[in-house]
Amino acid sequence: MAAKSKLAPARGRPTAARLAARDTFRRLREFHADAHCELDHKNPFELLVATVLSAQTTDVIVNRITPDLFAAYPDARSLAAAPPADVERILNRMGMFRQKTKNIIGLSKKLVAEHNDQVPRSLAQLIELPGVGRKTANVVLGVAWNTPEGVVVDTHVQRISQRLGWTRETTPEKIEQDLVAMFPKEHWDMLSHVLIFHGRRVCFARKPSCATCVVNDICPSAFHAEHVGRKSLIRLAAKLDGAKHTLGAAKAARALKAKGSAKPAPKRPGRAGPRRAAG
Ligand code: SF4
Repeated sequence: MAAKSKLAPARGRPTAARLAARDTFRRLREFHADAHCELDHKNPFELLVATVLSAQTTDVIVNRITPDLFAAYPDARSLAAAPPADVERILNRMGMFRQKTKNIIGLSKKLVAEHNDQVPRSLAQLIELPGVGRKTANVVLGVAWNTPEGVVVDTHVQRISQRLGWTRETTPEKIEQDLVAMFPKEHWDMLSHVLIFHGRRVCFARKPSCATCVVNDICPSAFHAEHVGRKSLIRLAAKLDGAKHTLGAAKAARALKAKGSAKPAPKRPGRAGPRRAAG
């Protein structure tokens, strides 16, 4: 199964492109020296639950909810025995709270039944837990034990990797393959945190702050990044000509817009032609 296979880290003599990427990352890392996982947690169990809850929602919302959740259910055993309705009442300020309730109770039951109440330390075992995919598993492995088996590719990592020219891919799985081939394994965990910090503070999806960015002298998208790596434009590009290269997304989007504007304007009912002046 592909999800279980280990990705190959960079080997051999690094190419010029890899060296340049590592230099860019070094500068970003120095700038975001405090980069870290922004989900509040005190142990691997809390981190695992918080990461599952963070799907399709922000870390800020999760951090508002988890203090109540962990006060009531501090470990896998207590959460495994929790009545779903009680957990739903705590989670109901976030989207998909019923499904998330099911997942965190289900994963707690599995931790109790199969892992001696502990969070497993391998990707293969983590992704067997309800609600845990490759991304969540690598967050836990990276943050809790610094042993990720890949790079976490969320929306920020995706967008910034594309803007920096580190990848031309558009799916998280393929972008992850490019990143693990480009960076040594010891950088995988911090790579995600630094790019996520950069995406939240400088390289915004809309209106990236290129003027204040520490890598604006070497970033290939500097000062024209607005249309690079944004999801809606990737979809537009794919729709237009099946383009799979993100760096061509802006061009494709412009072409689609031009194509659209070339169409005759639809006729409005009852207004077949210009009105004649009265009299
Ligand atoms: S120069 Fe602009 S596009 Fe490039 S990484 Fe910095 S903020 Fe993002």
